[in-house]
Amino acid sequence: MPEIYFLEPTVRFDDQLEYVSGMEMEIALCPLNEGQPSQHAMRQRWRRPLKIVAPVQRMTDFEWTVYRDIIIEEDIVDSLKSADFSGVKFQGVELFTTTKTPLGRRAFELTAVGWGGMARADSGIHVVKECPFCKRRVYSGFKDPERLFSSEEWDGSDFFVIWPMPKYVFITRKVVDYMLKSGYSGVLVKPINKFPKSIAVGYSPGHLDDWFDGQKLAAIKRQFGSYLSDD
Ligand SMILES: [Zn+2]
Repeated sequence: MPEIYFLEPTVRFDDQLEYVSGMEMEIALCPLNEGQPSQHAMRQRWRRPLKIVAPVQRMTDFEWTVYRDIIIEEDIVDSLKSADFSGVKFQGVELFTTTKTPLGRRAFELTAVGWGGMARADSGIHVVKECPFCKRRVYSGFKDPERLFSSEEWDGSDFFVIWPMPKYVFITRKVVDYMLKSGYSGVLVKPINKFPKSIAVGYSPGHLDDWFDGQKLAAIKRQFGSYLSDD
């Protein structure tokens, strides 16, 4: 079994970055329970590029939004690209002052697009609720973090997500070595057995379509058939 780690901010929550107010979400509501408070989204994704309120200069090499987005500048993107890791994507973001003036500082969102599979059932994570219409699922929390990862469902990427925790970036030992050598500030690598218990009751990750696109989405859905698919 490969050693698995994840990225954590060292930036205090109060110092993490907020989105510009009025940033739009692509949203489609599930017709189930229409008009009721229990109505949920069938599709929910922030429009890209993300628009973020940020300082004029970066305070740390890795910056974080309060939604766990990882923001880095071009020098780090270039360095990560030259290390030739798989499963990682960089998309430009737009940075603004608190008065919505563009900063003109170029920065990118680091996203894990590799697939680390579903959390193993023996971790304790299980489906609590499933919408009969759009198959949106709510999952319980876990009991044993060491059992979250199974290499059988993993696509072998260096950066990847484990479902249902798509906001966490999991990494391989190869990335850990790179991170330690680079000594970036603002970020910490932790082994998966230190994975934090969810503060909420469990996880509501939405749909795979909110996180993955194109061929990757199709491949994950093929792997799981109707199990995770909503079509
Ligand atoms: Zn639904």
